[in-house]
Amino acid sequence: MTASNIRVRFAPSPTGGLHLGGVRTALFNYLFAKKNKGTFVLRIEDTDQGRFVPGAEQYIVDCLAWCGISPDEGPHKEGNYGPYRQSERKSSYREYAEMLIEKGFAYYAFDTPEELEKMRETFRSETNPSPQYDGKIRMKMNNSLTLSKERVDELLELGTPHVVRIKMPGATEIILRDMIRGEIAFNTDLVDDKVLLKADGMPTYHLAVVVDDHAMDITHAFRGEEWLPSAPVHLLLWDYLGWKNSMPEWAHFPLILKPDGQGKLSKRDGDRLGFPVFAMDWKDPKSDELTRGFKEMGFLPEAFINMLAMLGWNDGTGEEIFGLDQLVERFSIERIHKGGAKFDFEKAKWFNQEWIKRSETTRLLPLVKEILNKNGIHANDEVLERLIPMVKERCQLINDFIPQLSYFFKDPVEIDIEAVQSKWDQKKHSFFMDWIATLDAMESWEMANIESAFKEASALAGIKPGELQLPLRIMLVGAKFGPTVFDIAHQIGKQATTRRIENSLKLLAQ
Ligand code: GLU
Repeated sequence: MTASNIRVRFAPSPTGGLHLGGVRTALFNYLFAKKNKGTFVLRIEDTDQGRFVPGAEQYIVDCLAWCGISPDEGPHKEGNYGPYRQSERKSSYREYAEMLIEKGFAYYAFDTPEELEKMRETFRSETNPSPQYDGKIRMKMNNSLTLSKERVDELLELGTPHVVRIKMPGATEIILRDMIRGEIAFNTDLVDDKVLLKADGMPTYHLAVVVDDHAMDITHAFRGEEWLPSAPVHLLLWDYLGWKNSMPEWAHFPLILKPDGQGKLSKRDGDRLGFPVFAMDWKDPKSDELTRGFKEMGFLPEAFINMLAMLGWNDGTGEEIFGLDQLVERFSIERIHKGGAKFDFEKAKWFNQEWIKRSETTRLLPLVKEILNKNGIHANDEVLERLIPMVKERCQLINDFIPQLSYFFKDPVEIDIEAVQSKWDQKKHSFFMDWIATLDAMESWEMANIESAFKEASALAGIKPGELQLPLRIMLVGAKFGPTVFDIAHQIGKQATTRRIENSLKLLAQ
């Protein structure tokens, strides 16, 4: 239930996997909406048919659901402002484009792709390497500003392909008031006459975003910094369409940067440096290429959104671990930084480890069970309830539970014998032989009994128990990690303990 008029939107284009910057935009919108008892809207901006990718919309919905930040309204949760896909609102945009033309703020342009290419060639110079369709050039082109009214009507009548372009005013300063950045001035001479309506009758992003933010009563338009250059066009459209008084407040979130701070983090950086950039696994339907996601790499959604919130925001106390409810409580747009935030995968893993440590076994169990199942280990809940607390402190990723738990179920395949060999001798060998015999005779396989039998046997052999524990660990686990060795022996049972010791003794004797 919402109790305020505040309405924000997350407006992704369904063009592929959801970049973590996109999730952070959704998260900040969500936090602001919840903090102010407002409404969080998902609007699918699918007007660019050429870039439409099947499955991408459902994927976005699934990612938001995984993060626990599902929208209050959207294509999958109807509200009073639908449809929530721009392609389904197609018929609503033309009238606004025409209204703008009538008022003299926009014009029809009939230039063919060849003519546009020629324009770029003709006007290309050293000082202007990529000429734009702008105030300096528009009067040399084929549009309703240069053609007679009759000719324009005729072309329209004939169904000649055309677009509608905004007529950017010359030498005007446009001021954006941004909740994070303060006032930003734009010079209209530097902005081209953006297309508003395309030849296929679809609006471009510029027209659709303004028409829909207005139609959906959006009170705050928050988006990534990469949209800042488009802001003057949008401000003008709000004005030209006569809606200035209901224009939303704006905020542009800082970029998420590559680990070295040199530019915006891209999917390619993730591929190159071996970390995920998408929220969840994304399989490109055209190429079948699979890009790994945070979820499948073993991140908890709690940790993922906590980490994302801290990329460009903090609450000023130095605290770093926040659950979603706490984030809602503490969040404020004004505390978001202006500068880009460097992505640090090690820090992301640290957040995950902190969340794994803090999570109840009941939270972790289904995830651990699933990942073990996928790796051929079928453990029952009761056993996992005992094992998870024993190893969770050592897991940065949910996937780390595989090496941390598999030796409880299967004899280790690789045994780091070299770690034992240099200090190995006949005395130690005899100790283990004797201890196996003691174990065999033991009636109760309790941890305390196993441990005291070990200590007694080591005293008898005249070897410090500390010197025997590493070999025992290597024999049982295969490597130098895991909880207390006696705990492990207790969990895996007498038979497995004896078998693993015997196998290692054989390897050491070789
Ligand atoms: N459709 C734009 C995107 O893909 C949304 C920009 C905005 O929120 O205004 O990110």
